[in-house]
Amino acid sequence: MGALKKMNESEQHETAAQEYRKIRRKVLAPEPQAPVKKSLVVAPKQMRVAPPPGEKHPSHYFFTSRIPFDPARIHAAAVYCSDGRLGTQIDDLLHNALQLPRYDRLAIPGGAACLAGHLAAYFEQECVLKQLRFLAGTHNLRRVVLVAHQGCAYYGERLKTPPEKLEEQQRKDLNKAIQRVRAFDENLQVDAFFAHLGETSVDFEEVKF
Ligand SMILES: [Zn+2]
Repeated sequence: MGALKKMNESEQHETAAQEYRKIRRKVLAPEPQAPVKKSLVVAPKQMRVAPPPGEKHPSHYFFTSRIPFDPARIHAAAVYCSDGRLGTQIDDLLHNALQLPRYDRLAIPGGAACLAGHLAAYFEQECVLKQLRFLAGTHNLRRVVLVAHQGCAYYGERLKTPPEKLEEQQRKDLNKAIQRVRAFDENLQVDAFFAHLGETSVDFEEVKF
């Protein structure tokens, strides 16, 4: 009975391992029917895949991404609002327009709004500056991109900015945030963008000061 039980477990394991190998082959094979979105693909220099099954149970992995891992850092970071409706478009701006794949992300409500010296955002400012200093030092940042967006709820809710003053305030804040980031590393290139929300598009304006 015990031997039968052991055999069954072994068989089950082998079946699961076969299934896992099948999934891995599928994951690593090109899939013309369901291509990965072009803007999310980074040219692979080195592909890392999950280790072969056997030692670990296949169920150890919930999911293996089809997007290859590239360990090279790009030495750039972006600070932008957490608003998930804009995440993919901001990736598009950074990856494709600015050619900054694998950029470090600092997504917080209001984005760089907290770097403009608002008293209501004092603690967030300290926290974000600390995080940026960490990234600048550890990941050797050479460039920081700040992105503000039209209709940002953080301004209305947290900073109590009236809607008619919103964009004007955001532009002033981007300017202050640029100075604040440059203040701790004058060699950093800091750029700012304002995202205009169309009915079905997001249009990025480069904000120059
Ligand atoms: Zn926002």
